[in-house]
Amino acid sequence: MHLFKTRSADERAPNLVDYEAERATFSWAAERAELGGLPDGRGLNIAYAAVDRHADGPYADRIALRWLGRDGAREDLSYARLAEQSSRFANVLAALGVLPGERVFTLAGRIPELYVAALGTLKRQAIFSPLFAAFGPEPIRTRMALAGARVLVTTQRLYERKIVQIRDTLPSLDYVLLVGDDRRPTAVPGTLDLGWLMTAASPHWTIEATRPETPALLHFTSGTTGTPKGALHVHDAVVMHHVTGRLALDLHPDDVYWCTADPGWVTGTSYGIIAPLTNRVTMIVDEADLDVERWYDLLEREQVNVWYTAPTAIRMLAKAGLAPVRRHRFPHLRFLASVGEPLDREGVLWGVEAFGRPFHDNWWQTETGGIAIANFASMEVRPGSMGRALPGIDAAIVRRGAGGHVELIREPDVQGELALRPGWPSMFRRYWDAAERYSRCFADGWYLSGDLARRDADGYFWFVGRADDVIKSAGHLIGPFEVESALLAHRAVAEAAAIGKPDPVAGNLVKAFVSLKDGFVASPELERELLGFSRARLGPAVAPRELTILPALPRTRSGKIMRRLLRARELGLPDGDTSTLETGAPS
Ligand code: ATP
Ligand code: MG
Repeated sequence: MHLFKTRSADERAPNLVDYEAERATFSWAAERAELGGLPDGRGLNIAYAAVDRHADGPYADRIALRWLGRDGAREDLSYARLAEQSSRFANVLAALGVLPGERVFTLAGRIPELYVAALGTLKRQAIFSPLFAAFGPEPIRTRMALAGARVLVTTQRLYERKIVQIRDTLPSLDYVLLVGDDRRPTAVPGTLDLGWLMTAASPHWTIEATRPETPALLHFTSGTTGTPKGALHVHDAVVMHHVTGRLALDLHPDDVYWCTADPGWVTGTSYGIIAPLTNRVTMIVDEADLDVERWYDLLEREQVNVWYTAPTAIRMLAKAGLAPVRRHRFPHLRFLASVGEPLDREGVLWGVEAFGRPFHDNWWQTETGGIAIANFASMEVRPGSMGRALPGIDAAIVRRGAGGHVELIREPDVQGELALRPGWPSMFRRYWDAAERYSRCFADGWYLSGDLARRDADGYFWFVGRADDVIKSAGHLIGPFEVESALLAHRAVAEAAAIGKPDPVAGNLVKAFVSLKDGFVASPELERELLGFSRARLGPAVAPRELTILPALPRTRSGKIMRRLLRARELGLPDGDTSTLETGAPS
C-alpha cells in the first residue's frame, strides 16, 4: 500500500535505499570496521562510539542531548560536555573502587545525570542496569539483589521513599550516589552527593582496552508473560544499535530525534541513549510523562525530525481525537516509528491522518537488544505488518518438533514461531542467574522468540500473538492480535485485548476486553454492537463470544497489555508477578 506522505522541510534520501541490495552485501564485520573502535586498536566501547569519538573531532560542540525539565527547565549538553561529564563519572566509580564487571544501577526519572551515569559506567567497563523510577521497593530490591548491585545512582526523593527501607537487605550495595531534590546538593546519611563527587573528579578518563564481549548492559524484560528476566548484553551490541539507528530509524547526523521510551526499559537505552548518539543526532529527553498537548507542542517547537514511540502512546493520542493535533504543524517531522506491542492497521494509518505520514512498526525484544524486523523508510509500508528482517538478520517462521528439532516453515502465510539465527551483535549473552531458562531459548541453531507470526511471500512479518497468549478454540489457533485489530477498527474502541476462557464445548472461547475513546460511554448496547461488529469482520469461529468494557486495560509500566492478568482475573486465579504492573501511582 503506497501511503500518502506530505513532504518534510527536512527531507533526506533514506539511508537504506535498496533493501535487496543492502541485504545481499551486508556484513557485520564491515559495519564494525566502519564504526571504528577505540584508538590504537584497543577494542570497542559503547561510550566511545556514542560520545567520545564525536567529542574528539569537529562535532564537539553539536548538541548531543537537549533536556526538557518537567516544569519548563531546559539544558543542552554538547558532545564535548557529555564526554567530559561521563569521564568524571567513570573517575568517580574508579575512586570508589568500583571494578569492571560490577553492577551500577540507576533509579531516576529522565534527568541528565542518568544519561551521564550510563555512559560513565560503560567507560569504566562496569555493567549498567537501569531501573524504572516508578517501581516500588520490592521490584527494586529483587532486581538489585539478583544482580548484586554495588552502586546505585538515584535521587534524594526516591531514596527516601523506596530505598531506605530495603537498604539493609542489600549487602552488596556499597554506595548510593544521590542527586538532590531539584538537582541541588544533599547530605543524607549513608549516601554520597553525586554533584560533589563529580566536581571533585577529573574530567579526563582514558577508556581502557575493551573487548567486544565485555559485559555492558543488564536489562530486565517487561514481565508481560511472567517474572522478568535480566538479559545481559556486551559492548559489541553497539554495532547493532548503530546500524539499526541508521537503517531502521533512518537517523541522519544532526537530526533532531525523540525516543519517548524511558531508559528503565531496553528501548530507552538502545534507542534513547546509544543509537542516537552513535549516529550523531541531537536527542530530546523529556522529563515529563505523556501529555497530549505537551507532546504535540514538543514535536512542533523542537522541530523533531525522527520520532520513535509505542502503540500505547499512539492510541492515547488517537483517543483524544484529531482536534488537538490540528492545532499544530510539523513541517520538520520526517519519520515516525513504533515498537513494543503490535501496531494495528488503524494505528499506522492514524499517523497519516494526524501527521501526513505512517508509523513504521518494528519488532524486537530485550533479548535481541536491537531492532530485528522493521518497515524501512524506503519500503512500502504494509499497515499491520512489523516489516522485513534487518539486513544482517536471518529471521524465519519455524515449528518446534520432537527432540529439540526445529522445522523451518518455508511456505508463506503459515503461522509459526518467529526465530532468528544467532550471530547478531546485540544478542543477549545470558539471563542473569538463569542458565537453564537461557538455554531453553535456543534449539537446532535458532533463537526462538516466543512470539508467533506469519511471513508473507514478500518477506513481511505479521504478528499473531505471544505463544503464551494464543487461544485454542474449537480446533482453531486464534491469535489475539487479529481479534484486537478487528475491535480497534471500531470508532469507539481505544484499546483491546483478547484472551481464551475455558469452555466445555470449544475448549476455549474468545473473550475480549476493551476501553473506549473519549466521548463514548460504556453500555450493554455498545458491548453488543462491538460483538456484532467483530463477528461481521472475523466470522463466528474467531470473533469474541464475550466482551467487557473496562475504564482501562492492565498494562506493564513499559506500556504492554497484560493479557495474563486479564485471564487470571477472569478465571479467579492468582495474579502472578505484578512487579511491573502500571498502577497509576505517582513515582
Ligand atoms: P517478558 O519477556 O518479561 O514477558 P516482554 O516480552 O514484554 O516481557 P520486552 O522484551 O520488553 O518484554 O518485549 C518484547 C516483546 O514485545 C516481544 O517479544 C513482542 O511480544 C512484543 N513486541 C515488541 N515489538 C512488537 C511489535 N512491533 N509487534 C508485536 N509485538 C511486539
Ligand atoms: Mg519477552
